[in-house]
Amino acid sequence: MKIFNTLSRQKEEFIPLEEGKVSMYVCGPTVYNLIHIGNARPMIVFDTVRRYMEHKGYAVNYVSNFTDVDDKIIKKANEEGVDPSVISERYIEECRKDMQSLNVKPATTHPKATQEIGGMIDMIQTLIDKGHAYAAQDGTVYFKTRSFKEYGKLSHKNLDDLRSGNRSLLVSGEEQKQDPLDFVLWKPKKEGEPFWESPWCEGRPGWHIECSVMSKRYLGDEIDIHAGGEDLIFPHHENEIAQSEAANDKQFAKYWMHNGFLNIDNKKMSKSEGNFFTVRDISEKYDLQVLRFFMLSAHYRSPLNFSAELMEAAKNGLDRIVTSVTNLNFLLKGVEEKETTQEEQKLIEEAREYVVKFDEAMDDDFNTADAVSVIFELVKFANTHVSEEASKGFVQAMKDEIVLLSDICGLIVDKKEEILDTQIEELIRERQEARKSRNFARADEIRDTLAAQGILLEDTREGVKWKRV
Ligand code: AMP
Ligand code: ZN
Repeated sequence: MKIFNTLSRQKEEFIPLEEGKVSMYVCGPTVYNLIHIGNARPMIVFDTVRRYMEHKGYAVNYVSNFTDVDDKIIKKANEEGVDPSVISERYIEECRKDMQSLNVKPATTHPKATQEIGGMIDMIQTLIDKGHAYAAQDGTVYFKTRSFKEYGKLSHKNLDDLRSGNRSLLVSGEEQKQDPLDFVLWKPKKEGEPFWESPWCEGRPGWHIECSVMSKRYLGDEIDIHAGGEDLIFPHHENEIAQSEAANDKQFAKYWMHNGFLNIDNKKMSKSEGNFFTVRDISEKYDLQVLRFFMLSAHYRSPLNFSAELMEAAKNGLDRIVTSVTNLNFLLKGVEEKETTQEEQKLIEEAREYVVKFDEAMDDDFNTADAVSVIFELVKFANTHVSEEASKGFVQAMKDEIVLLSDICGLIVDKKEEILDTQIEELIRERQEARKSRNFARADEIRDTLAAQGILLEDTREGVKWKRV
């Protein structure tokens, strides 16, 4: 399996630190609003990476944070006259709902910055003790960027170029920095802001230290993969490397993965530009599986332009797969239980080649665009070779393969038939009739059919009651 590593700017063979295991940290959203579909791109992309790793047999420890202390959260809290935690908790909840609709698996751990302040204070203290950080007079703590010799290795920036570019950026309040390149680890509280006690002042952490600390706590000093959108390469990830490696004296992450931007009219979608759609906006028009499919139709490192046409194309593409699986389900109910023929056996073997091709595409730096094309080829193969004369085993094998590959992409294509309330009540009436005429076999059969669909019957004095479980 090859991964493009931002650190080396090359595709590298993936060799985990520990055999059979993958530790992965993905920078999560700042929770002050509903997430937009740009934020959804890393969630979908890295969830797919995780699913593929799991398919390969790795046990994946996947950590993704919620940044729940930040200027924007505080601003919104002040506008609404509530505590910042009310805002962050509200949008964490909403974000979880969006993730579920996108079929993004919950992380193994979703730490929140405000729950990890103690760890941040400890790491900042270590950095001060090791001469990599210093406290200014007002209690602000800065990281001494030049003390970390490898600074710039991820973003491939040169410190002196950065310095000349940064000179004009020295703004008021920052004159206490020893060097304009130094960045904040801890800052003093301002009126109306949440704060925590620390050895330097009552205040709150800078953004970058969060991820260094949460990654260390939940995954250890060295991890396999650290990921996020490409806007995070500099300064966020560069600063994370400086903090973690200076504090722990170990290489922080072996592989750095970054997704390209989701654009609109070829400009990055972002809250600040106002050119965004929330995931919720899209859900009013489409099943969010369509959005997931749309995201996977491009390579994760390529920019992807959002448009109504591409969403329609994604909808049609996904429909093709879903329709094929629905047809196979329909056939499965009707076809005979008979031995698979030799010819069918051969076709099943042939179909396995699509799984191999799918894996090859995914092994090549998670080329989901090619992987999705393989699913289409498989669908075409199944549609061509399956008929009412086929054996159940053959139809099932075709269905299982399409569902397996779709599932690795996190696409739900096997739509369970929804049983309607009126259908349930009709069956219950039929069951009562059957019992009256002492046809208990039929009555039990109906009960079992309903149970298989998650419908539980309860015989009471007032009659039969039912509930979905
Ligand atoms: P934020 O809440 O802005 O910190 O972003 C959370 C995640 O979404 C980060 O990994 C960002 O890099 C990513 N992200 C934000 N906007 C976009 C976009 N337009 N396209 C792709 N990724 C994005
Ligand atoms: Zn981060």
